[in-house]
Amino acid sequence: MLRHWYECKKPVKISKKPLTNPTEPIKKYDAIVVGAGPAGATAAYFMAKSGLDVLLLERGPYPGAKNCGGASLIAEHTHKLFPNFWDECECERIVTQQAYWLMTEDSILSSSFQSMKLAAAPFNRFTVKRRNLYKWLCDKAMNAGATLLLNHQVDDVIFEDSQAIGVNMAPQLNCRFLADIIVLADGANSLLAEQAGLVPQVSPQDLSLYVKETIALPAQVIEDRFNLPPGYGSIIGLVGYPTAGFNGTGSIHTFKESININVGMPVADFAKSGIKPYELLDRIKKHPLIKPLLAGGVTLEYGSSVIPEGGYHAIPELVHPGLLIVGDAASLVNGTHGFNLSMWSGFFASQAAYQAKISRDFSKKKLSLYQTLLNESFVIQDLKANAKMAGLQQRVPYLFNLYSQLANETAYHMSKVYTMPKRAKRVFIFKKITSIQPLTKIASDVWKVLKVIP
Ligand SMILES: Cc1cc2nc3c(=O)[nH]c(=O)nc-3n(C[C@H](O)[C@H](O)[C@H](O)COP(=O)(O)OP(=O)(O)OC[C@H]3O[C@@H](n4cnc5c(N)ncnc54)[C@H](O)[C@@H]3O)c2cc1C
Repeated sequence: MLRHWYECKKPVKISKKPLTNPTEPIKKYDAIVVGAGPAGATAAYFMAKSGLDVLLLERGPYPGAKNCGGASLIAEHTHKLFPNFWDECECERIVTQQAYWLMTEDSILSSSFQSMKLAAAPFNRFTVKRRNLYKWLCDKAMNAGATLLLNHQVDDVIFEDSQAIGVNMAPQLNCRFLADIIVLADGANSLLAEQAGLVPQVSPQDLSLYVKETIALPAQVIEDRFNLPPGYGSIIGLVGYPTAGFNGTGSIHTFKESININVGMPVADFAKSGIKPYELLDRIKKHPLIKPLLAGGVTLEYGSSVIPEGGYHAIPELVHPGLLIVGDAASLVNGTHGFNLSMWSGFFASQAAYQAKISRDFSKKKLSLYQTLLNESFVIQDLKANAKMAGLQQRVPYLFNLYSQLANETAYHMSKVYTMPKRAKRVFIFKKITSIQPLTKIASDVWKVLKVIP
């Protein structure tokens, strides 16, 4: 068992592929970035900007092709890296409404905050289409001098002893590229890092599978149904009923002329329950209070992807000789927020790469500047602060579902008019709630939650 673990961790030498023409000289880059998502494109941009010769490799036919739909982008973190980015990147809606819906089969208890103060520059959040965000970042990287090759799937990393020196491309491309520094930005569950023995296999409990659907609706219909001023948007977190009794989450994001529904939970819970991912999406779409919001909509896209939600304790070793791991590949996701952590990790990797380049030292020690910068930033500090959250969800697997039910049950009886006197009504509600979950269990769960709140 221990031997197996050791063999797994040991970097492997994979340099067996022949070149198309072994006599042809191979161009050597300063840095190769694998994956043109927010992490990879940001790393490529800042490295190219500082004068490095950068190759950015993306397996999709265009940036963002492998990631459908859209999401919310935290403005301040992005603005600090790319000042006034909203003037260049096509954003969909300025988010002025954030809500959480605790759901049961037939009811929703909502907490919602809406303010035009959130619409003041430098803004709070935007909704963005992935393909626009990814394209914008890739265009920036190319304008700064990076070379982007699309339809280029990397198959494995080439090592000389334990030093990463290049990448082998998929068999149909029959080529390889060499560089002093490899940045792995290939997204969640990085098969390249795992295959090279640089990271352990992600546990199915730490990896959440999300299904998502984008539904087209006219802009005015979206604004009327979600009570939004023209051009502004909302993000709604969905908790409880959508994930069929398991701890997971869903969300609704509004875009200019479409809305996105996402829902997911740990892969381990899908396996345990036998629930099919699309069944969770159906639970949301068929919910009697959500169905009218989608009426008349046309499905534009449908897809699924994974998020590494293991938190701080699931972050693997990110610095290796000649190689850095960034973004989702590095498990740098906080809750379901990953864009800002990805972009900043790409930026920190670029700083370490630049320092390594000018000192011509690509050792693990030199590149560990990346880890230092991450540790000193909000990326690791916030993940550390939330470190116990992932564990709590595993220890209290009924947390989201049961407490959504209790909250809705309480709200129902409080809203319903009874003929009994008010004091008797309070006792009646108390008895109803504690018949579902005894008071001692509620107190113990509250204590468990309070203990993990940073
Ligand atoms: C349903 C869902 C909703 C989300 N919502 C939000 C949100 O609202 N806000 C937020 O901040 N974050 C959100 N996230 C998280 C966010 O999407 C990720 O954290 C972020 O995209 C990570 O960026 P990345 O560059 O590390 O990886 P990715 O965006 O996954 O990019 C990786 C890129 O690498 C390419 N690639 C992979 N393997 C190879 C290979 N072998 N060779 C070449 N190219 C390769 C892929 O095609 C892809 O383009 C959400 C995630 C999901 C799944």
